[in-house]
Amino acid sequence: MPHMLITGANRGIGLEHTRVLLSRGWHVSAACRNPGRAGDLKALDPGDGRLSMLEYDAGRPGAGKALAGQVKGPIDILFANAGMFGPREQGFGQTDYAAMAEIAQVNAFAALELAETFAGQVAQSQLKVIALQSSRMGSIADNTSGGYYAYRMSKAALNAIGKSLSIDLKAKGIITLIFHPGWVKTDMGGAGGTLTVNECVEGQLDLIARANPAMNGRFFHVSGEDLDW
Ligand code: NDP
Repeated sequence: MPHMLITGANRGIGLEHTRVLLSRGWHVSAACRNPGRAGDLKALDPGDGRLSMLEYDAGRPGAGKALAGQVKGPIDILFANAGMFGPREQGFGQTDYAAMAEIAQVNAFAALELAETFAGQVAQSQLKVIALQSSRMGSIADNTSGGYYAYRMSKAALNAIGKSLSIDLKAKGIITLIFHPGWVKTDMGGAGGTLTVNECVEGQLDLIARANPAMNGRFFHVSGEDLDW
């Protein structure tokens, strides 16, 4: 049975990935900060062992490695999706450096730790995909409006991590995909988003299903368009 490990599975885009793949018969290891309070995630449980809920705080170094023994067997898709925007005020002169360090840990460093922990199990699977939920706000080429120092920096760092993973894990047959999910109606994206979570997830899963070596290490809009770094 195909298997995805995804973080930030209790709401937003991660919850929808979990819902869609469970409906397609997958096993989903769904990691979230507080499984005891993840009612929407728990409600998806088909009750046949295909949903494994795992406690995981991306803000805590070592949390990824601590999952190692809890996720067994091949992992077709390792999806580092959990992310935070941080303080709404991130303009010049407003920087909260403690918050900035936390955002880097959650949005970037945690993804590398997951890859270091689970690359072996991804390599044993059929699909062999590592997906990183980045953002176009991490694109330096696309930055025409400035500000948002913490969030932009963290997603640019995630992109750099993804590029190195695509090179370092290529020999294992792993394909690393770096995604901008679009502007999605979630708590983070807000009601003004142009995509529903389902449109985003169907698009991302289509791209993942087509994953091939030519896509390794590229930065994709959910539409399939390549984005500049
Ligand atoms: P939401 O705010 O709806 O969900 C964020 C998810 O990340 C939640 O499950 C949240 O868990 C989890 N998370 C946050 N911090 C941590 C942590 N320390 N440890 C574990 N989990 C954590 O946002 P989206 O679903 O929209 O975002 C998902 C990803 O997509 C993020 O990486 C985001 O940056 C990215 N993205 C989203 C866009 C959009 O338009 N929505 C645009 C570009 C990128 P909890 O409930 O515990 O807080």
